[in-house]
Amino acid sequence: MNFELGEEQLMVRDIVRKFAVNELAPLADRMDAEDYFPADLFRKLGKIGMLGVTIPSEYDGSGLDYISQAICMEELARISPAFALSVGAHSNLCLDNLFRNGSGEHRETYVPRLSKGEWIGCLGLTEPESGSDSLSMKTLARENGHGYSLSGSKTFITNAPVADVALIYAKTAPAEGHRGISAFVVEATRNGYRRGRKFDKMGMRGSPTGELFFDDCEVPASSLVGRKNEGAAIVMSGLSVERAVLAGISLGIQEQCLDLVIPYAKDRRQFGTPIAKFELIQEKLANMYVGLEASRLLIYRAIHILQKDKSKNKEAAAAIMFASEASTRTALDAIQIMGGYGYMREFRVEKLMRDSKLLEIGAGTTEIRKLVIARELLGEH
Ligand SMILES: Cc1cc2nc3c(=O)[nH]c(=O)nc-3n(C[C@H](O)[C@H](O)[C@H](O)COP(=O)(O)OP(=O)(O)OC[C@H]3O[C@@H](n4cnc5c(N)ncnc54)[C@H](O)[C@@H]3O)c2cc1C
Repeated sequence: MNFELGEEQLMVRDIVRKFAVNELAPLADRMDAEDYFPADLFRKLGKIGMLGVTIPSEYDGSGLDYISQAICMEELARISPAFALSVGAHSNLCLDNLFRNGSGEHRETYVPRLSKGEWIGCLGLTEPESGSDSLSMKTLARENGHGYSLSGSKTFITNAPVADVALIYAKTAPAEGHRGISAFVVEATRNGYRRGRKFDKMGMRGSPTGELFFDDCEVPASSLVGRKNEGAAIVMSGLSVERAVLAGISLGIQEQCLDLVIPYAKDRRQFGTPIAKFELIQEKLANMYVGLEASRLLIYRAIHILQKDKSKNKEAAAAIMFASEASTRTALDAIQIMGGYGYMREFRVEKLMRDSKLLEIGAGTTEIRKLVIARELLGEH
């Protein structure tokens, strides 16, 4: 076992930290207040190689591992969890997934553009009537002789309001259930591709979330990602990688909470003494620290296992389940430590609580993560 980060991982941490502090921090409050998505910053992150973290250099990526991508999530989330979420949806859910499962043509056409941030990507799995039960999706892809015609809709899709390209799951053999799902890469300029509402969210504001509609949207046969009717395997392997990497956002939230409350607790005086001297405050700080470090170990271990075998699911489910709950608990404790000030927007911890709650819902809810863990323990699939 090695608990040290490697040279390249430390390099990613430093590069992204510098970017987050210098470029992202000045915009983080505006993102939350105005639900503002800083598209230029997205492209800047691409230029420094941090959108295509896991993509080989010949496709304009940095050729690093998933731990590096989780570190990227953590460092961005330490300043803006919403920006980290949009980057995660682009880099991991769309780009990395497309690179792993796409054809040579997909790699040539989409991967460099997405790595450099010239295009923004999203992944559409969830539909209005299929969330946790995602494989019961209704979106259809009918073969029409020269390709497929997509009809249906997706909802709650991160980056949908701004994405240039989407990785979309649809039924190619509806009677076959989950054995009849395929993945497609669909450009936003295609006829019949329509962006719907952008949602007004509780947290993660500045990460645009929206609907997508497909009204007989015709795509060529070459849009198929992976093999026909084998999309469920892509969904499942993608979900575990997504869970493990995006859990890095919860690390950033927990770090940011500690960054904010420690100086506050040392400075704020009540009963003639800094509140940091009170043992009930110290208990909260200790719990926050343990939550953060335990989350980190679970996340890194899950990624380590997934890097060798992407069919493993329970470790990533456990990591994001624990880390997201720790992160919300930590944000609530941070508010409590700051008392009335913590309840005020300008002290920022209430925002972290709003942001954190998403991590218990997106990429499969806490309840579904528990089912994944239990079923794997019981030897069920
Ligand atoms: C901000 C945001 C961004 C998102 N980004 C994306 C994205 O980029 N791409 C994408 O495809 N999706 C995305 N999603 C969708 C997300 O993955 C779903 O919201 C999530 O999977 C839950 O589905 P649902 O909202 O339909 O809830 P439901 O599935 O309706 O669940 C409702 C409740 O029932 C519980 N429940 C459901 N089934 C069971 C069961 N078998 N046992 C016990 N309890 C159960 C759930 O845990 C939950 O508490 C995003 C969601 C949000 C809010």
